[in-house]
Amino acid sequence: MNGAVPPSGADPPVGPGRALSENERKILTAIGIHGPRTKRDICRQTSIAWATAVKLVGRLVGDGFLRQVGILEQPRVQGPDSTVFDLASDYPLAVGVDVEYANTRAIVTDLRGGVRSAHLAPTPRFSDARRVAEHTSRVVDAAIAAADVDSARVVGVGVGLPRFLIRDDPDLFASVGASIAATRNSRIVVDDVARAYALAMEFERRSHASFAVVTIRSGVGLGLSVDGRLFRGDSNHAGLLGHMVVRPGTTGSCPHCGRSGCLEQFVNDTLVTAELLEAAASGAPDATAELADRADALAHALSFLIMVTNITEIFVAAQLGEYGYLFADAVRSALSRYVAPFVPCRVEFVPLSADRFALGAAFFVLRDYFNYELE
Ligand SMILES: [Zn+2]
Repeated sequence: MNGAVPPSGADPPVGPGRALSENERKILTAIGIHGPRTKRDICRQTSIAWATAVKLVGRLVGDGFLRQVGILEQPRVQGPDSTVFDLASDYPLAVGVDVEYANTRAIVTDLRGGVRSAHLAPTPRFSDARRVAEHTSRVVDAAIAAADVDSARVVGVGVGLPRFLIRDDPDLFASVGASIAATRNSRIVVDDVARAYALAMEFERRSHASFAVVTIRSGVGLGLSVDGRLFRGDSNHAGLLGHMVVRPGTTGSCPHCGRSGCLEQFVNDTLVTAELLEAAASGAPDATAELADRADALAHALSFLIMVTNITEIFVAAQLGEYGYLFADAVRSALSRYVAPFVPCRVEFVPLSADRFALGAAFFVLRDYFNYELE
């Protein structure tokens, strides 16, 4: 997998020295979704045969993934199926780190996606990948300390970075991953931060249906989840929607990639603001025109995404406030001019969740324990 940097090059073992099978992952996923379950419930929800389920549940208990939480008082089926199993409370844990241009957030989470602790620190300017790695390691240690958990229960660290955090490093994710792995004895995965957001959404949807999510912060990110897999492209650069040149010849340059006319020069959280939306809502002509112009730039980029991929479900995650619908309406209106009428698309604006970037980064590691294909 591009961007994933296991400590020693080989695919690292999970749990006590082995990778989980698809069926074991199904069992953990089913209990994660439905809560404590008996073996018979597990069979029903995963379509795993009884004998196999009995064997695998026993193994998952032995390896510390599952624990017995009780006995059904009145078993629905007489016999040995009265024991109820739940996910272990503190294994496996992972740290997720969201390194945004302005701030870095690290969280400790588990297979249910609960936030055990969060640590926030300002993001400094970085000269090279090693500095990013040092900064990341510091916030990881702070998050683990704040969670008050045994660090031996933390199976890995996932890190989400914006592609242009260091402009001149063509292999940013791999360089940062190698640099962190040199000093930490756990699985390290470094990948694009918008892909982290997409992975967190995939976890919440518990589905492998394809979708795209565009995240608007100080930059514009794109995560593509195609048939349950994050799409990375041939050289790990898929998703550079924010750096599509939507207005060639624009004066000034993109603060992140340095070129001119990028989408990020027209749409980010300092340009499409609650204040601009409020002014547009009150009918100020300048604000209305500016909003339409910015919506047009985003719609232009989205139309390429929609026409090229034919992905129907597109989410735009942004913090737009009370009048956000004005921007959403303007984007959809422009899109209706740019996208061929027979290409279906559903562009849904959703509130941006700050934790979701770091959670998704943790799932870069924890996804080794999931299999949503339950039926
Ligand atoms: Zn750019």
